[in-house]
Amino acid sequence: MPERRYWNEAAETRSEEEIRALQMSKIRRQLAYCYERSPYYREKFREIGALPADVQTWEDFRRLPVLLTPEQYKAQQDQSSAEDGHPYGRILCAPLAEVVGVASTSGTTGRPTLTPFTRRDIETTNEVLARAFWRIGIRPGDTVLHAFGLSMWVAGIPMVRALEAMGARPIAVGAEGGTERLLLFARLTRPSALLCTPSFAEHLIERAPEVAGIEVGELGIERIFCAGEPGAGLPEVRKKLSQAWGAKIYDFAGGPWGISSVSCDHAEYQGMHLLSEDYCLHYDLVDPETNAPIEVGDGTIGAAVFTTFDWDAAPPVKFMLNDLNQIFTGPCPCGMPGKRRKILGRIDDLLIVKGINVYPAAIRNVVNGFVPRVTGEMRVVLREPPPRVSSPLHIRIERGADVADAELVELERQISARIRDLLRFTPRIEFVAPGTLARSALKGKLIERLYQQS
Ligand SMILES: [Zn+2]
Repeated sequence: MPERRYWNEAAETRSEEEIRALQMSKIRRQLAYCYERSPYYREKFREIGALPADVQTWEDFRRLPVLLTPEQYKAQQDQSSAEDGHPYGRILCAPLAEVVGVASTSGTTGRPTLTPFTRRDIETTNEVLARAFWRIGIRPGDTVLHAFGLSMWVAGIPMVRALEAMGARPIAVGAEGGTERLLLFARLTRPSALLCTPSFAEHLIERAPEVAGIEVGELGIERIFCAGEPGAGLPEVRKKLSQAWGAKIYDFAGGPWGISSVSCDHAEYQGMHLLSEDYCLHYDLVDPETNAPIEVGDGTIGAAVFTTFDWDAAPPVKFMLNDLNQIFTGPCPCGMPGKRRKILGRIDDLLIVKGINVYPAAIRNVVNGFVPRVTGEMRVVLREPPPRVSSPLHIRIERGADVADAELVELERQISARIRDLLRFTPRIEFVAPGTLARSALKGKLIERLYQQS
């Protein structure tokens, strides 16, 4: 029998019509559940003068405003800590006794924000993570080295749990275990897959020879599942990691709330396939400036707004994250079904040039299409504070090492035309020598600020 392509074929290959019908029935159920049980959502519905029963159609749902932001998520947890005797927030819908798992979603300093799970939420998480693990080739019986931070993070214990649930064999050293211990366990247990941030995978390339007298390529890792930061979607980083490790590199985003998306095997990064449209709405986009809903077509960019379905503990509904997403609805060259998304950066990166929304990460995506005639390293140079900046937007691009001076005029014309076609503005391009711009691909530094920062 040929090996199956999906962990859950029935769920992962639904038609667009089936997905939409399923989502609508689940959205209506989730809204009613949240309204009935959460004082936060009841208050929000009161403010907008609506009831969950008013949401009958997809258009009704799309018109609902953003109900939750990261700041509000934190504030409602501060409030429940002060007034309700628990830190899980006023969006907590399940009885506290049914909260049997807790993770933390944010790595920023200060008070952590918590993600509670009921038993069913843990099962949902196991299911949507298993779909991602299966897509990248992890199978029951495989040894998987886990090197994400274990302490409270969603990519920590929940991923270990999901690997065990699907029958794989996680070696949960965690990022806290440190380089030496990780390499020791890698040699001892011979894992075929590694789970870690792209910057940790990069760090191990340099450290393995010093610490263990071994090149990472000798460890036998066939696939690396990256998450937690951008990197695995950038051509330079992918190339560096895959060459040094001799492994395939995959980019994942999700974990809590039924969110799961992972990149495919195609040589060129195509974004992350949405794997759990039956558990979460991943492609509800709004304009980051006005919060108005955006009609989503192939390549549409906007602020990501998530709504979970069938989530018990503290379900986000119309939750606008700080991420800018680009959604692709057209077929992927890899042949796998479903929509895809690219995370382009943070909303704070938004620029407005002559009324057009411009995202530095989208410019980088265009410029990356010209490698090797450019190195892929570039900066948007700003002389005034964003988001509204004057035209033409100044872009500094590193030319490729083998590009002659005489070719630059034509190269500039081509890049400029591609940016105009795809992003609807005309830039001013300045070429600089390869290696001129500081290397910070993992941090994703795309803007150079020449104005006085307060
Ligand atoms: Zn694909």
